Amino acid sequence: MTAPNPHHDGGCMCGAIRYRLHGPFTYSAHCHCRSCQRAVGAGFATYSAVAPDNFEILQGEMAIYHSSPGVRRGFCGTCGTSLSYAGDDWTDYAILSATLDDPSAARPTTNVYVSEKQPWVVLDERLRAYPKFP
Ligand SMILES: [Zn+2]
Ligand SMILES: [Zn+2]
Repeated sequence: MTAPNPHHDGGCMCGAIRYRLHGPFTYSAHCHCRSCQRAVGAGFATYSAVAPDNFEILQGEMAIYHSSPGVRRGFCGTCGTSLSYAGDDWTDYAILSATLDDPSAARPTTNVYVSEKQPWVVLDERLRAYPKFP
């Protein structure tokens, strides 16, 4: 997918929080679930993930919202930018792709929770699609 040992930086809108991803992306996907729609205030949320040990905060501290038991949604307490998604049962640490300095760095391959998709969102037929999570 990417060169060995790459890193990708990103952060929130106001710049208070900066993060770095080390190592390759484990996946990139669009999530259409209602929680993600609300969390980002948009039709769907696009995530890119790395192994949890490959996520590093460079500056600032994320505020955390537990949207479900065991789920941690990270955001900036100053500007409100949604930044991350992590769960107790998850093997990956996901960040909102649009918060990367280069959001094109990871190319989404999959749509998940299509069962909750808004009717005005048109899916890219070339991507895999799952009613919930595969
Ligand atoms: Zn901020
Ligand atoms: Zn979701």
